[in-house]
Amino acid sequence: MLSAMQTSLNLTGAALTPGAQRSWWLREALAHDPGRPCPALSGDVNADVVIVGGGFTGLWTAFFLTERDPDLGVVVLEQDICGGGPSGRNGGFASGWWDELHGLVTLYGPEAAMRACRAISASITAIGDFCSRNNVDAWYRAGGYMYAITAGAHEKLCEEMVRLAAEVGAADELVALTPAEVKARCASPAFRGGAYMRDGASVQPARLARGLRRVLLERGVTIHEGTAVDRLDGTTAITPKGSVRAKHAVLAVNAWGVGWPQLNRRLVAWSSYIVLTAPAPDRLREIGWTGGELISDFRTSLRYFRTTPDGRIAFGGGGGRARRSIDHMFTHDARAVTETAEGFRLMFPSFADVPIEDAWGGPIDVSPTHLPAFGRVGETNVYYAAGYTGNGVAPTRVAGEALADLITRADTEAVRLPMVNARPRAFPPEPFRSWGAAVVRRAMIAKETAEEQGRAPGFLASQLARTPHRMGYLLGPD
Ligand SMILES: Cc1cc2nc3c(=O)[nH]c(=O)nc-3n(C[C@H](O)[C@H](O)[C@H](O)COP(=O)(O)OP(=O)(O)OC[C@H]3O[C@@H](n4cnc5c(N)ncnc54)[C@H](O)[C@@H]3O)c2cc1C
Repeated sequence: MLSAMQTSLNLTGAALTPGAQRSWWLREALAHDPGRPCPALSGDVNADVVIVGGGFTGLWTAFFLTERDPDLGVVVLEQDICGGGPSGRNGGFASGWWDELHGLVTLYGPEAAMRACRAISASITAIGDFCSRNNVDAWYRAGGYMYAITAGAHEKLCEEMVRLAAEVGAADELVALTPAEVKARCASPAFRGGAYMRDGASVQPARLARGLRRVLLERGVTIHEGTAVDRLDGTTAITPKGSVRAKHAVLAVNAWGVGWPQLNRRLVAWSSYIVLTAPAPDRLREIGWTGGELISDFRTSLRYFRTTPDGRIAFGGGGGRARRSIDHMFTHDARAVTETAEGFRLMFPSFADVPIEDAWGGPIDVSPTHLPAFGRVGETNVYYAAGYTGNGVAPTRVAGEALADLITRADTEAVRLPMVNARPRAFPPEPFRSWGAAVVRRAMIAKETAEEQGRAPGFLASQLARTPHRMGYLLGPD
């Protein structure tokens, strides 16, 4: 029986049991095209490049390797199925980096920051081109990205974001919106003013991941699903029933990197959950949200939402969990679903009677800089890309190109991007890292919720939320 809270949130059974099944995106994508089977690895094989992880990073890396040299032997090993992880679970925001300028300029200076932003913008367009050229129907829609202010404290953040874009000569990329202009794009009573970034496209992420998988198989890449890599022995990937001895290995494991010695000091794993409504295209028309804009607020524990072609809203929110390893709390957290649904009901009261039909979650690989890094582990032939911090749809394609170019020693713009071989300040070791992250995360959510409700945030929550900045990390409020 549903509790009073669940009834008022109008959650359906599927939404109440996140993780009991695959994400709605992936179920939809598999129903559209289940794809050829890719059986688990059995036995010992040789390859030029072995890629651990069949999400966007691993798949784009394999894609660019085949572009650079079609004769390379490339093997992808995925513990689940391709797109079973966050690449098939995310909000489908392929969004620009003009909102990341503060961190980019601080770390790399304005010129390199601009190059990075332009590379991400080009990636968004290129994802659309990839879909058209390869007959991948991933519902690509370039509707831009609207930031909506939902608390007075966010007005300054919005102003600074827009001002910085103008200062680096990118005034057209990020423009301020008046409350009326925000309302014209999406009339939520929670929204005040905001900003609009033209670089933003929505995708059905699992269709994109599965489409990439199909293209790779057509190009002769070997993919083994249901194959967990226990460890790398040099550049040989060791799995329970076989190994891949390769000249180069790529760690494309996203938040699972917290369990890999090569990556663990670079990452904290936080959860994020998405709720999905039933189709309600009439309601979307009533609030004027028909332009396909990606929308988010300004919270650190970001709320982000987009529409689907059949008139649903997919609404995401960062859960309060930070964990030491990737466990069931990243996929089965009913409390996080309820919190996400509450956020949705707050912003879209006119959808009160529209049921939430589905919900799912996944881990996010938070980096110390809020930005990813791609590169080579020391002088080894092991490569990595990690730290997307919940913004990986467009950057993973850039990472895949950069890694392929590093491996094939191609001298390209991609390998000169500032994120390549970037060395961010490391997080503290465990157990302090995950304990600290969990405490700070709850404090950030408490502070931001108070601000949104027009209350003064508690002293302790405010102080704790600022801890990452005080420790020199580019995360959370300063
Ligand atoms: C709920 C949610 C919403 C998000 N929304 C957005 C969004 O709207 N826009 C955006 O840009 N980003 C978003 N993100 C982030 C985005 O999904 C990721 O940054 C992106 O998918 C990273 O791709 P990846 O290939 O690096 O990681 P993944 O997709 O996680 O792929 C890594 C793969 O490695 C596999 N793996 C791990 N360990 C092993 C092992 N030992 N052996 C074999 N395989 C292994 C995993 O099973 C997984 O499939 C969101 C993330 C979540 C969880």
